[in-house]
Amino acid sequence: MNQSSDSPNPLQDSLSQACDSAALLKKLGCPAIRAVYVHIPFCFHKCHYCDFYSIVDSKNRQTAFTGRLIDEIRAISPLVHGPIETIFIGGGTPTLLEPNLWQQLLHALHHALPLADDIEFTVEANPETVTSELMDVLVAGGVNRLSIGAQSFDPRKLKTLERWHDPVNVGEAMRLARAAGIDNINLDLIHSVPDQTLEQWREELDAALGHQPTHLSCYALTYEPNTPLTVKLQAGQVDRVSEETETAMFELTIDHLTAAGFEHYEVSNFFRRHEAHPEVRHEGTKADLRCAHNLLYWLGANWLAFAPSAPGHIDGVRWKNVPHLGNYLNTSGGAPILDVERLDDDARLGEQLMMRLRLIEGVELTWLSPRLNAEREARIAELTERGLLERTPTHLRLTRRGLMLADSVVMELL
Ligand code: SF4
Repeated sequence: MNQSSDSPNPLQDSLSQACDSAALLKKLGCPAIRAVYVHIPFCFHKCHYCDFYSIVDSKNRQTAFTGRLIDEIRAISPLVHGPIETIFIGGGTPTLLEPNLWQQLLHALHHALPLADDIEFTVEANPETVTSELMDVLVAGGVNRLSIGAQSFDPRKLKTLERWHDPVNVGEAMRLARAAGIDNINLDLIHSVPDQTLEQWREELDAALGHQPTHLSCYALTYEPNTPLTVKLQAGQVDRVSEETETAMFELTIDHLTAAGFEHYEVSNFFRRHEAHPEVRHEGTKADLRCAHNLLYWLGANWLAFAPSAPGHIDGVRWKNVPHLGNYLNTSGGAPILDVERLDDDARLGEQLMMRLRLIEGVELTWLSPRLNAEREARIAELTERGLLERTPTHLRLTRRGLMLADSVVMELL
């Protein structure tokens, strides 16, 4: 196991000796957990921009993986206090798992963990993998939100990204999900794809709106190190859109989606209110359709991580599960972990500020003011002077110009 930094802190040293997530939880005193992330590390093939941990795997390791994951859930469960308000099962491509394996996994989650009655339970899906059989299994197992990796409705852009689905798969996946009883559906979209024009991005947004999602996540394409797309960029085989175009696409996203009735609540995330949504029909769909799971991340809540490469956080201690399926399958109990890091109070405040400022409403002054030291006060004053931050009577938040530069502004407050 690696340790992220040399630390004279005996608690940090003791935490770093924990070699799996169960041992770490014991050392942390089995605290209350509000969210759970489960990583399913299988994909059909690797998309060219992706650096998430996933392996292109035939079905022959799915059964072993699911058995090991259930073993991990059962090992962790006596150490967890709830109620757990959200579960997010991401990947990879979770919807690649066979329905019978999903049944086993969902059964284990429900029986082992203290779940809240009104839990938000999200599964990530690739459009081409959604079937009515699988949707029925997910709904029977309590899943009430689907997050679909649409990314683009333009076949040429999907080809550039090396996504293998057809745009028509998105509408069909949504139809099957709704028929099974899932009304709350997010679409992920990517802008600033090579050669994309502003007009093409507007068409993408219109195509997405035509499907009436309750939630949209719109991110600029990032060129992660060592991905095939980055290699192509470095070889001059694709052209990156200009910074001006990327900014214009971001502004268009905000203006176009808010004009269509969506509320902008985080830098890249939008939701449409329940009562204004024609496709929300099933009783029990929660009224607030913001992603509760991601809100808990942004607010710095405690969340647990299951399966290889999943990151977790408890009371300022962060870790990551080892991103290696073989290693995971050869162990039992908690998942092997690495990079355990305890943030000191100042670093934790910087990180919380960075995450909370991503929310459009900003950071509550009643939370922030007692925590600020003179140095951060000065940095906030300077960013306010430059027109990047502003105070409302109750919050500190990014201005519209600050939003365009959100990543660099929040970094200045770390
Ligand atoms: S489907 Fe998702 S996780 Fe899998 S390679 Fe593509 S982007 Fe990455």
